[in-house]
Amino acid sequence: MSCPRIEVDLAKIRRNTHTLVKRLGPRGIGVTGVTKAVCGHPAIAQAMLDGGAVGLADARISNVQKQRAAGMTGPITLIRTPMISQADQVVQSCEVSYNTETLVISALAAAAIRTGKVHGVVLMVEMGDQRDGILPENLADIAQQVMQMPGVALKGICANFACLNGRAPTASQMSALCDLANEIEGVCGPFLKIVSGGNSANLPWALGERATGRVNDLRLGEAILLGVEPVSGDRIDGMHTDAFTLVAEVIETDAKPPPFPIALIDPTRERLRIVTASRASARMILAMGHQDTDILGLSMPFGSTLIGATSDHLVIGTARPLPKVGSEVRFQMNYNALMHAMAAPDIEVKLLGDPPTRLSRRTRGKVEHLALV
Ligand SMILES: *Cc1c(COP(=O)(O)O)cnc(C)c1O
Repeated sequence: MSCPRIEVDLAKIRRNTHTLVKRLGPRGIGVTGVTKAVCGHPAIAQAMLDGGAVGLADARISNVQKQRAAGMTGPITLIRTPMISQADQVVQSCEVSYNTETLVISALAAAAIRTGKVHGVVLMVEMGDQRDGILPENLADIAQQVMQMPGVALKGICANFACLNGRAPTASQMSALCDLANEIEGVCGPFLKIVSGGNSANLPWALGERATGRVNDLRLGEAILLGVEPVSGDRIDGMHTDAFTLVAEVIETDAKPPPFPIALIDPTRERLRIVTASRASARMILAMGHQDTDILGLSMPFGSTLIGATSDHLVIGTARPLPKVGSEVRFQMNYNALMHAMAAPDIEVKLLGDPPTRLSRRTRGKVEHLALV
């Protein structure tokens, strides 16, 4: 098997999705599976659908196009406001996109009219993350403009939290979002189909004590893929945290560390796992480096510590018996490491835990698969 590679356990992704679908369902919240961290990988997207996700979402049109090319025909939402230069592609591949700019929405409307379609628009509201979004006081005005544009249909509103500022949403921010949904309906008339509350950072709120109001959708990537809640980094109860494993090959071993001091990786990025070489009794060098993944996002194997990395080499100290040259070392990844590794050209993605999924023509979850695993 080729190295480095990412082994993906599709059954665990399916089960993680299903666990969240089951917990959020009684609260009136559906799960949209977010595939951007895995570059839209169609089989992983399908595992989310098989686990009960009602639809898919991605930030990049190129990822959505991969899913369409693989035969996925269900609803896919673009959750980054479209580049105006890609308006035609967005209308062609996505039923719905998240939007913050009227200029972009007009371009989508024009593209939709040219192809005889109606493109769905969800307006992103800025609720404190200070990334993308329309200020709440401007929302009603923009919603009315969208209502008047042929070629687009106002489908809902959404908010996003904890991406730029790292802060989880509060209950009062969430109820403000619900109030905005009511206000927009008061002004514009139609029933807003989608009130999408946020991402994996919303799970503590969504599964907490309080009522979840009008929020009927969450867009979940990290929680499904890695089984963790992003703000705390804690494992979510009952979820698999090892659906992905990064495997790299040992290319050199040194029973004794070099007698001279070595430069450690950038101290400004220092994290707990970095130690001086002298503390490790032996070292191994793996054929993987910064070009492949976020090295600081790897959890080191038991008894091992990260000494440093360069573009193509990873140096690890170990207190355990040295593996042979040619043997493999396995790592778990955090979100950053996963995202970079999935995009790295030299890393093979190996699907495990399942016969290769035959992509269903439908995108609704086929939960009966769960019985097989
Ligand atoms: C990335 C992203 C998500 C998913 O975030 P996770 O933390 O992976 O759940 C949801 N919504 C938007 C707008 C995003 O950009």
